[in-house]
Amino acid sequence: MSTMRFSAVQESLKRTPVKITEIARRSDLFGQNVFDQNTMRQSLTKDAFVAVMAAIDTGAKIDRGVADQIASSMKDWALSKGATHYTHWFQPLTGATAEKHDAFFETIGGGMAVEKFGGGQLVQQEPDASSFPNGGIRNTFEARGYTAWDPTSPAFIYGTTLCIPTVFVAYTGEALDYKTPLLRALQAVDHAAVDVAKYFDKNVKKVNASLGWEQEYFLIDSALAASRPDIVLTGRTLLGHAPAKGQQLDDHYFGSIPDRAMAFMMDLEMECMLLGIPVKTRHNEVAPNQFELAPIYEEANLAVDHNSLIMDIMDRVGDRHNFKVLMHEKPFAGVNGSGKHNNWSLSTDTGVNLLSPGKTPMSNLQFLTFFINTIKAVNDNEELVRSSIASASNDHRLGANEAPPAIISVFIGSQLTSVLEGLKEVTKGKLSPEEKTELKLNVVGKIPEILLDNTDRNRTSPFAFTGNKFEFRAVGSLANCAQPMTVLNSIIAKQLIAFKADVDVLISKKDMKKDDAIFNVLREYIISSERILFEGNGYGDAWEAEAKKRGLSNNKTTPQALKVQVAKSTIDLYESLGVMNKTEIEARHEIEVEEYTLRVQIEARVLGDIARNHVVPTALKYQNTLIENVKGLKDIYGAGFKKLAAEQLLLIEDISGHVAAINSGVTALINERKTANKIEDANKKAVAYCDKVKPLFDTIRYHCDKLELLIDDELWPLTKYRELLFTK
Ligand code: ADP
Ligand code: MG
Repeated sequence: MSTMRFSAVQESLKRTPVKITEIARRSDLFGQNVFDQNTMRQSLTKDAFVAVMAAIDTGAKIDRGVADQIASSMKDWALSKGATHYTHWFQPLTGATAEKHDAFFETIGGGMAVEKFGGGQLVQQEPDASSFPNGGIRNTFEARGYTAWDPTSPAFIYGTTLCIPTVFVAYTGEALDYKTPLLRALQAVDHAAVDVAKYFDKNVKKVNASLGWEQEYFLIDSALAASRPDIVLTGRTLLGHAPAKGQQLDDHYFGSIPDRAMAFMMDLEMECMLLGIPVKTRHNEVAPNQFELAPIYEEANLAVDHNSLIMDIMDRVGDRHNFKVLMHEKPFAGVNGSGKHNNWSLSTDTGVNLLSPGKTPMSNLQFLTFFINTIKAVNDNEELVRSSIASASNDHRLGANEAPPAIISVFIGSQLTSVLEGLKEVTKGKLSPEEKTELKLNVVGKIPEILLDNTDRNRTSPFAFTGNKFEFRAVGSLANCAQPMTVLNSIIAKQLIAFKADVDVLISKKDMKKDDAIFNVLREYIISSERILFEGNGYGDAWEAEAKKRGLSNNKTTPQALKVQVAKSTIDLYESLGVMNKTEIEARHEIEVEEYTLRVQIEARVLGDIARNHVVPTALKYQNTLIENVKGLKDIYGAGFKKLAAEQLLLIEDISGHVAAINSGVTALINERKTANKIEDANKKAVAYCDKVKPLFDTIRYHCDKLELLIDDELWPLTKYRELLFTK
């Protein structure tokens, strides 16, 4: 092992022993640093509280006087908790969160100072945001953007800063963040779902989308991670030979959580409790040093904020425990990557989960309505659903034969498959009383409340029904959930609006009873979305061929997958729902395409540097040792040296072969990059990076990894997979 690597490993072994102590009951800590409904009820005047609740429930505007009162209470609460600063906390289109801190402190003349925070500062702020990506929106329209409070996500204190969740929009109103379109999509699905839910219960006034995400991640010793330029700069390893032992024994998955990881998790969970993030589940994942964290599900907008927040906190808590938290979808070749399952459902203000089978035929008809409409929405928009999870890093997972494929399909389990088969046979037009009784008793009425085959049966499905919710499994671990949630809730909203229209037409024009109309429309939907249903192995080649026959898209790369984002159908969809306008859609697309190019570009540079500056010099050094050795043998043994130096001579040639291949690979990489960089059109440039630059990574890596196996371990400069993955 090289001295550098040795000292990194030593460093990691020197760390202080972990202490695992619980300091308080979690329920006591929960939400202590959140200005939540309970805190608001206690600290706001009645008028102010009512105004905030109306803003949360119906999106009502908060007037300036009330905003001042809220700000004042919020400030007092924050100061009492030791906060000194406040920030508008938002999610620009870079996948991270942004904040600019301002002190409450202000001077008031005469050598005096006070803590100040008014309604104006709560409701609206101008961040110095010229460097946030905006896809040209602000350049075209208006030089500045502003952030505005989102009362549906409560303010919280992190460290000594009061963080106020906000939207980030241009002065002309265009969204510059992830949150704004999400809020609009949630509103659209609320209205559309309420209208449909009213067929079954007139009392429904609001429908909330819920999200329960499951976050996978790796914990790598930070000293070891810091010794790898690829991990530091790209979040993943660009080279590294597979270790002799990987995940084949499943000993990590089924083993207990290592102490040090446990200490990290408990520290993280404490932070989450204070911030009101209801984390519930922790466990080892399949790959060595891979773990998962999941909260209790929440209203989708809040859940998205909590996921963004937790990704940030994980990083910080990781630092305290000398861990680098890798959230990349594929940090290591040859071992499992990470995802972020998005469990999604819709529930009413009357307490009904619309995707949960119920006790009566009527509640089951409601369940089937939402269930089948979801399937139809995914079927009709499968390519857009795929685009919502496209990123340079997720490309290593999707379609790479180990994670959900790049083909979107829906798994529903055998019990519901047979229910849909039954519904397909419903007679067209008005139903006879006998048929209706039969349907209610034996088809709809027989749906069990607990669906046995719908828990975790098909791990290969990108979109699976799991008993009382759908689980969108193809979301990347690094992603902001807002995007998949915006797409999903938008397509459902559009679908439910269409459903309502279809049913109402049958009722008014064909004089059908409501139930007859619903059965008729559902039957047509089942028939027209059958191609999306797939119960088999999503990883197999057979499915790729079958999916092609069914006309499903299979966009394996990000540039390909993103195209549909600017298709006319997408623009129509978003504009009709008021989620985004054409300018916003195109700006977002441009940002994503550019981000793809930049990520691949950075990786290409890093790989070239490591190959030329680390790998090749090390190989030559070792080769020289071998040459010296051969020369020495020749000096001693004369003509007989060849037999004695057989291995060395082979090694010398092998090394030269690999070095030559690396050299030509890196040269080609640089040339392809130069060619790509000259392309003006952002889409074409991304395609060049994808099709011409990226494929060269594999050859370069192949030869570097071969050298890793040949060269003296003591000389090898990069921390190896076995050290990264098996140091606990
Ligand atoms: P498991 O799949 O481990 O048996 P669950 O099915 O209860 O456990 O939950 C898995 C994930 O799905 C959890 O993160 C949970 O919060 C989430 N979840 C459960 N019900 C819903 C729902 N109605 N809406 C959204 N997410 C949900
Ligand atoms: Mg799950």
